[in-house]
Amino acid sequence: MKIGILGAGQLARMIALAGFPLGLDFIFLDPSVDACANRLGEHLHGDYSDPVLLAQLVECADVVTYEFENVPAQVVDYLAEHTKVYPPAKALEVAQDRWVEKNFFQELDIPTAKFALVSSLEDLAFAMPTLGYPAILKSRTQGYDGKGQVVLKSEADLKSAWEIVQGAPSIVEAFVPFSREVSIIAARSVSGSVVFYPLSENQHQGGILRVAECRANDPMQAQAEDYLTRLLNALDYVGVLALELFEVEGQLIANEFAPRVHNSGHWTIEGAETSQFENHLRAILDLPLGSTAAIGNAAMVNFIGGLPEAKEVLAIANAHLHLYGKSPRKGRKVAHVTVRASNSESYRNSLEKLERLATQVDDS
Ligand code: ATP
Ligand code: MG
Ligand code: MG
Repeated sequence: MKIGILGAGQLARMIALAGFPLGLDFIFLDPSVDACANRLGEHLHGDYSDPVLLAQLVECADVVTYEFENVPAQVVDYLAEHTKVYPPAKALEVAQDRWVEKNFFQELDIPTAKFALVSSLEDLAFAMPTLGYPAILKSRTQGYDGKGQVVLKSEADLKSAWEIVQGAPSIVEAFVPFSREVSIIAARSVSGSVVFYPLSENQHQGGILRVAECRANDPMQAQAEDYLTRLLNALDYVGVLALELFEVEGQLIANEFAPRVHNSGHWTIEGAETSQFENHLRAILDLPLGSTAAIGNAAMVNFIGGLPEAKEVLAIANAHLHLYGKSPRKGRKVAHVTVRASNSESYRNSLEKLERLATQVDDS
């Protein structure tokens, strides 16, 4: 079996690494000749919407999937007409546009922050008295790692914020005074079986995920699963889906979802019986899904903009290094490290060491 993946970054790479023991082969399509997954399979270079490349991909692959959600709609339509492609087009359409996504949550009775559509500076000024300060202006499309977002502290920020997003179609949403951020990841197979991972508790720095920690037996697990079940059913979803949530006063409210494997689930490689990457493949191939049970304590720390020395990471007990094979650039995720240990004290100890190391190495 050969799996086609749109995108050849670290997510595609980790999907391939999970697929080799299952006897799977891979073909990647990515504009970059030195994308980090390329060496793990065949690769096609060029624009995602190049009809010749897409035809080649369809020809070579038994099933096609994505590692990112900003696949142009016409590409998904083409793929869906010619081959099996998961997750479904509808999930991408919704996740690509924050305005559509937030309305979709509301239709499913999944609570969100208050939000409004912003197509002009006048719209923004009109929305603010109802939303109140602080608030966040977010471009509707293309944003990730907090890019295309500006915090609004008062009326004086509106004009400059609108300039920062360069007048792009946007939404403005109320700032959520959350006690913590969590995410939940599920896999749903072609025949409709579903498994949920334990919640991840996530810390961000400057809009970029820094640490994700497995929270087995979290009191908010049931509510998170309930929201995610509504999404999976409404989208007739196949593959892995991640839902990002804020906890406020003992309630969860939705931030956004990602129709793909997710950075907050990287700890599942060592910290769960079956990783999110393997379960994504099992789901799209309609194989039995694997157990998502946590194995002891587990957390993941991202390295952003600077590469750690392997020997420094590996000197930390219970640390598992994942270098992506990317050259460091400011703000770019280049590696992550998982800490997993059954003993809570050695787990805490190693995680603290790792967090210190990551702070030293970042953007070095
Ligand atoms: P990702 O890399 O997860 O795709 P993104 O660029 O799509 O990120 P968001 O997830 O919307 O952006 O926001 C990034 C982070 O900014 C959130 O994880 C959260 O820490 C903070 N944030 C976003 N929206 C709000 C909000 N309404 N209230 C408070 N904090 C927020
Ligand atoms: Mg996002
Ligand atoms: Mg996010």
